[in-house]
Amino acid sequence: MRRRNWVVCVRRSALSGRYRLEGACNQCGLCCLDSFAGRATRCEHLIVSGEPGQPFATACAVHPSRLPGMTIRMVDRITGEPLALGLCQHTTPDEVTLIRERGIGKGCSLTVIEQYTPLVR
Ligand code: SF4
Ligand code: SF4
Repeated sequence: MRRRNWVVCVRRSALSGRYRLEGACNQCGLCCLDSFAGRATRCEHLIVSGEPGQPFATACAVHPSRLPGMTIRMVDRITGEPLALGLCQHTTPDEVTLIRERGIGKGCSLTVIEQYTPLVR
């Protein structure tokens, strides 16, 4: 398990559209969870050792070799049964949107920064 590497990798500014994310990932795992056909799913590579949403609850088993947009299987969170194919959004243009939707305000340790500076009030 490579917990520390994941922290290092996400310790950067993720940038997309009008928002960017800053800070250090706490490995809560929320951005690697989803649902499909009414069933709670996780990426097949997500190692869950605690309660998702809590710091250091998860780790990415393929962290050193993951590629932007690589194909992943989404599996049932409890049984591990493969249910759907998906894409890892690591460093893709959709990464910020995904993290905002799944993690911000629920356990994600990153901070959303508004890109725009108002010129008028
Ligand atoms: S491969 Fe991507 S989606 Fe899967 S656990 Fe790792 S970072 Fe999350
Ligand atoms: S939701 Fe945020 S803190 Fe949690 S694993 Fe994803 S990037 Fe890291």
